[in-house]
Amino acid sequence: MPARNGQQYIERLKERPPTLYMRGERVKDATIHPGLSGGVKTVARLYDIQQISPSSSSEAGDGPVMTYPSPSSGEPVGLSFITPQTPADLEARRGMMRRWAQVSCGMMGRTPDFLNVSLMAMAAAGDYFGEDRPEFKENIRNYYELVREQDLVLTHTLVNLQRNRAPESAPAGDGLRSLSDNTDIALSVVKETDAGIVVHGARLLATLPIADEIAVYPARSHRLPTGAPGRTSFAFALPCDAPGLKFLCRESFDLGRSRFDHPLGSRFEEMDALAFFDNVFVPWERVFLLGDPDRCNNMSRRTHQYLHSGHQVVTKNVVKLEFVLGLANLMQRVLGSGQQPQMLQMTAEIIEALETTKALLRAAEADAAPDEWGVLCPAEMPLTVARHLFIRMYPRMGEILQLMGSSSLMALPTEADLSGPLADELARYLDTDTATAEGRVRLFRLAWDACCSAFGSRQILYERFFQGDVYRNVVLLNSLYDKEPATAFVREFLEGD
Ligand SMILES: Cc1cc2nc3c(=O)[nH]c(=O)nc-3n(C[C@H](O)[C@H](O)[C@H](O)COP(=O)(O)OP(=O)(O)OC[C@H]3O[C@@H](n4cnc5c(N)ncnc54)[C@H](O)[C@@H]3O)c2cc1C
Repeated sequence: MPARNGQQYIERLKERPPTLYMRGERVKDATIHPGLSGGVKTVARLYDIQQISPSSSSEAGDGPVMTYPSPSSGEPVGLSFITPQTPADLEARRGMMRRWAQVSCGMMGRTPDFLNVSLMAMAAAGDYFGEDRPEFKENIRNYYELVREQDLVLTHTLVNLQRNRAPESAPAGDGLRSLSDNTDIALSVVKETDAGIVVHGARLLATLPIADEIAVYPARSHRLPTGAPGRTSFAFALPCDAPGLKFLCRESFDLGRSRFDHPLGSRFEEMDALAFFDNVFVPWERVFLLGDPDRCNNMSRRTHQYLHSGHQVVTKNVVKLEFVLGLANLMQRVLGSGQQPQMLQMTAEIIEALETTKALLRAAEADAAPDEWGVLCPAEMPLTVARHLFIRMYPRMGEILQLMGSSSLMALPTEADLSGPLADELARYLDTDTATAEGRVRLFRLAWDACCSAFGSRQILYERFFQGDVYRNVVLLNSLYDKEPATAFVREFLEGD
């Protein structure tokens, strides 16, 4: 099947619904559920955009190319699956990812390209999976091909639940080890049979549980301790409707309100869920790694999966910062506050964040190099730094929007109020020199949803944590960065005249 359209995504979700629960009830059909259907519609829209796009750069007008010919069938498949070989491939992939990110103003982190690029990298590095068990190489390659050809949506879950993070039980000197991996709640293999493995336990979080498949693999941030039992080290994938697999969704931030009232939450609720595996059977053909903690710990680094997901993340972050800048600018125009020194200073901060992120993305592409698996990878350090900075930048963006909006983020009628008993008062008192009352309210409801609502707060939490916490990222950066040339420079200076 070539690249899907939105209706095909929706139909499959109806035919094979993931086992979702929310607020004490089973979600029978996510596609019409009030808390989930807005997000489903937006994911569907992404697939519709694939359909109307040109399939080669020679056909491309204004819009980016969204598909490329499948290496196996020749049919158009999603461009996020491409195995980049040339700078033009990376550039085209970025154009495609940027187009998808624009649909949600950068507010949906788990658009399908995030995991498609990861899976591509893992499949290209199939030899890594097959070093101990040759069949795992075929498994990861076949799985990538299946997802690419059927254009499936993936969610993923990498981290075990927080249970005991007490410092006294922390292994000394390694800030990356995850204590909970050894507890009885961690997802573990409980049985091996001729047909596959059986896994039991819990994981968090699965963002975008409105997906066809779930990938379960080791987190780069939460490394398994040396000597961890083999039963806790694995990589596999399953359909989201696999028997025994249950997702507990947090409460939805799509409150069923209009687009006017909740412009972001009503459209872009991607949802986060706990994943419970109740003796879930995984057939061998869906197992990619097993019983080797070191191989699991090194998977991301050796396959360079994180460089490709980083390419997607930083592309999305550029769009998100463009959205913040545009929003901030409109807020100032409506309030006439643009020339105040503190507004200029905060706008400059947004511009700096945007331009730094863009420059790092460009540097990552300019310094891209082929890896040992023949894949052109964006350069590690610019992407790593861009991701780290964003963990600090985005909470500040939320703060800036709050400081710019101040009371206008609370003097905020709903759509119903605009035609309710106080309509005349609202029209008279809420208009400004540059905006009608309705225009002002529409804009500030958007700002409120970006930085004050439950949806907006979750955006900040997401950017702080979805790629690992700031401390573990600091440890990783220190271990990755070659500080010796700079150290030698200073040593030579000290030893010189
Ligand atoms: C909105 C959202 C969406 C997410 N989506 C996904 C997803 O789709 N898939 C997925 O797999 N995961 C997802 N996550 C989970 C994410 O990967 C983790 O939250 C993140 O890696 C941090 O792990 P943790 O929550 O277990 O926190 P912890 O590891 O417990 O850390 C909590 C805090 O304590 C500190 N800390 C605690 N123990 C240690 C220690 N031993 N060493 C160093 N620091 C420590 C950390 O610095 C951190 O600030 C999501 C998280 C959020 C908030």
